[in-house]
Amino acid sequence: MRATFLSILAALPLIAATGCASTANTGDYLSLVRSITAADVSAFEDSHGGRTSSDEIARMQQVTRQLVDEQTGLDDIHVHVLKSTSPNAFALATGNIYITTGLFDLICTEDELAAVLAHELAHIEEMSELGAMGGIDRDKLLVEADADARALDFLIDAGFEPAALASMIEKLEDEQPRGWAIHRTDQIDFLLGQRISNQFCE
Ligand SMILES: [Zn+2]
Repeated sequence: MRATFLSILAALPLIAATGCASTANTGDYLSLVRSITAADVSAFEDSHGGRTSSDEIARMQQVTRQLVDEQTGLDDIHVHVLKSTSPNAFALATGNIYITTGLFDLICTEDELAAVLAHELAHIEEMSELGAMGGIDRDKLLVEADADARALDFLIDAGFEPAALASMIEKLEDEQPRGWAIHRTDQIDFLLGQRISNQFCE
């Protein structure tokens, strides 16, 4: 079923309570991505309450532009807001990024908005790279931790406060599998600490 394919393989959420790239072995990932139709995208959007026109979209697009430079190759990103009150964000392999209204209610600063968008951009970048590797067979928590690590690069390069990512993950602790938020924020603390020590070595 197409809708199932989307939720399992292509919709990578911020908090991954359900449906994330995990043990599915996709074979040729890129051909699967290309097979995503407009109807598939609509079905995904409808399953989260459908899109809503929000004043936040212009702000999201502006922050996304700041995060994405020419070198990343992520030049065709479309951001949307979903009506669902359940806090989450998603990235489709098609380059669509979604934030639910429930998550928007938890975002207090521009840095936190950038953190959410950077995490989803990291998923899209990884999805495009996995195509070349030929398949996915990875632990869900590892997928999230890798996206967090890459998101820190996006945030730092664009001049946002990278610790805002840990702040958002902490806010979503109850939405995630037990222990994930601590694991993820510990990793972020470690990576940011490493950057500080590297500064002294240069
Ligand atoms: Zn994620």
